[in-house]
Amino acid sequence: MKHLSILGSTGSIGTQTLEIVRQFPDEFKVVGLTTNKNSDLLLKQIKEFKPKAVAIMDKSKVDDLLNFSSCQVYSGIEGLNKIATLSEADAIVNSLVGSIGIEPTHNAIKNKKNIALANKETLVAAGSAIMEEARKNKVNLMPIDSEHSAIFQCLNGENIKEVNKITITCSGGPFKNYTKQQLENVTIQDALKHPTWDMGSKITIDSSTLMNKGFEIIEAHWLYGINYDNIKIVIHPQSIIHSLVEFHDKSVIAQLGLPDMKIPIQYALTYPKRFLSMQTSLDLAKIKNLEFREPDFDMFPCLGYAYEAGKLGGTLPAVMNAANEIAVNSFLGSKIRFLDIPRLIRKMMERHSLIKNPTLNEILEVDKKVKEETKNIIEEELVVRN
Ligand code: MN
Repeated sequence: MKHLSILGSTGSIGTQTLEIVRQFPDEFKVVGLTTNKNSDLLLKQIKEFKPKAVAIMDKSKVDDLLNFSSCQVYSGIEGLNKIATLSEADAIVNSLVGSIGIEPTHNAIKNKKNIALANKETLVAAGSAIMEEARKNKVNLMPIDSEHSAIFQCLNGENIKEVNKITITCSGGPFKNYTKQQLENVTIQDALKHPTWDMGSKITIDSSTLMNKGFEIIEAHWLYGINYDNIKIVIHPQSIIHSLVEFHDKSVIAQLGLPDMKIPIQYALTYPKRFLSMQTSLDLAKIKNLEFREPDFDMFPCLGYAYEAGKLGGTLPAVMNAANEIAVNSFLGSKIRFLDIPRLIRKMMERHSLIKNPTLNEILEVDKKVKEETKNIIEEELVVRN
């Protein structure tokens, strides 16, 4: 029986993780849960899964929980760290959104918890520090991302030194057939309509700018130690092939499945075993056509920024991530337009003085500073426009 703490249990990945726990009550026991501010749903989850302890980020909502729940209740980032390091937990599912996930992941690893990682910003911003800590503590880092789960499965039993290249597939997002002019007038609703995946709002916007795919390049680099020149992107609108690995002998192994996050979530929880899933079976004849084409770096510059940030390394990926987090939030709050997202990321990357081998604290400081600066620039621009 595996004892799990789920960070971000009220979000898209968190609730799907709990659905899997519900399907296999003899295999998994929930010991910790956290939410940003959704106290109503967290209370329901407490009643059903009876965790030992929970945390809510929003301190103003802690009373909602204290008055009604039977378990220990924590709040703020200290609360997140508490749930990430609970002595009862064997593994942590990190489905937090944004760089807020870095610290709890780091602390969980230091406490020798295995990690099922859906929070990609952790590896994007702090990949070096996190991977080093994981190696030191002999902790397993299982990806909860369809592409990285695919790569992991393709590499099972293989020698990483015999890999020629990795190809990460990309649905292309909702704007894959747009012109540059159409991109200028994209609305929040347009950007939130992902063609194949049903996800939370931050990652859905990241998927529409292809920043998400850029993050996945950096994630793949850290998880599998592959050079950026050997990581390729291919647009594949049907999201059936989740990624491919080519070996030196030019043999290619791919992993396929319907676009359903429960498949990679379940695998991250059951590896090396495979449990019988209730999900729909893939029938390729019904899919009919699988298309592939080159990504357009000109239309979606975030892809190129990710390669650049990844290759230059140091604090640059953290800068890219921090600027993106604020830009996406501001876009969702109608403060900036769609194409301002890549523009602001570029601007923040250009004005940054790179720290080559940053400590985790330096990364966290850069993250905070760049977020503040990006916010200020957005506010200043708003004033100028009005
Ligand atoms: Mn993905």
